Amino acid sequence: NEKSVGFIGLGNMGSRMANNLIKNGYKVAVHDINCNVMKMFSDMGVPTKETPFEVAEASDVVITMLPSSSHVLDVYTGPNGLLRSANPMRPQLLIDSSTIDPQTSRKVSVAVSNCILKEKKDHWEKPVMLDAPVSGGVLAAEAGTLTFMVGGSEDAYLAAKPLFLSMGKNAIYCGGAGTGSAAKICNNLALAVSMLGVSEAFVLGQSLGISAGTLTKVLNTSSARCWSSDSYNPVPGVMEGVPASRNYTGGFASKLMVGDLAYFSLAKDLNLAATSAKEVGLQCPLTYQAQEIYTELCKDGHENKDFSCVFRHYYSGQDE
Ligand code: NAD
Repeated sequence: NEKSVGFIGLGNMGSRMANNLIKNGYKVAVHDINCNVMKMFSDMGVPTKETPFEVAEASDVVITMLPSSSHVLDVYTGPNGLLRSANPMRPQLLIDSSTIDPQTSRKVSVAVSNCILKEKKDHWEKPVMLDAPVSGGVLAAEAGTLTFMVGGSEDAYLAAKPLFLSMGKNAIYCGGAGTGSAAKICNNLALAVSMLGVSEAFVLGQSLGISAGTLTKVLNTSSARCWSSDSYNPVPGVMEGVPASRNYTGGFASKLMVGDLAYFSLAKDLNLAATSAKEVGLQCPLTYQAQEIYTELCKDGHENKDFSCVFRHYYSGQDE
């Protein structure tokens, strides 16, 4: 593949996504502020760059996978940021896969569209930005089975599709700038609430004398069936291979959780949802309630456990 791709943010997700691009034949150059991870890539023979600006100078496409909005603003608009060479710049396409608020995605998209290209390629007059956050976690990043939700120009989405499909199995076009970020926070809002709903139903069910196994059978063949009940059941011992069956750690879960943002990211994503709701003057009572409960979990010292441990939290509430 002839396209040079710059990848910035080589954490739990980004390092695996960059590896999949390399496996698919892209010429990849990378940058991260963490020297250890940079060394890991340079040991593999991958060119490493000292700043986002240097990445931009070497790349046709740049992908960012950073913790939150402030990091994205820094990498794009900071002193050595991607847009330093605004007039003119090399990359024609900039893709941000971080989970951030839609307002920031739109702001960065506008900053990108104010730049011009060093070399006009194809029909592209200006560099284009896509917000393309992902669902799927570390295992999906590793296996290349992520789902991308993409906001920005549809032409740019179509041009970027082969890149998305090198790192994921689905890429869904959501609409204009910021709608990918909006889709992601809405997905995680629904996930956070569905996990609470399922957990609450199991706690009540057990108190009313229905075993968790039986209730699982019922839910999964009835109208309450959802990912939290049929793929990520929060009750210990009901399903094999889920965090709940390993004290909310271990195997898949611990890999996902150790030192990463996956658990916090739910609290983080709920904050993003709550903030976005406020900005558009919408009341989202379940979001606020879920935000409170997951924040409480973090404060109680469970921040490194899988978020499905919210099931157990109901019992700790009763014990006190
Ligand atoms: P991570 O903390 O493991 O990785 C982030 C990386 O960005 C780190 O290597 C860090 O050194 C680097 N970084 C931070 N600031 C930087 C800067 N200014 N310049 C260059 N590099 C910088 O996080 P992650 O788990 O890979 O998550 C990344 C994003 O993906 C987050 O927005 C998260 O919400 C989202 N996400 C994560 C998961 C998951 O399961 N981990 C799933 C879906 C979405």
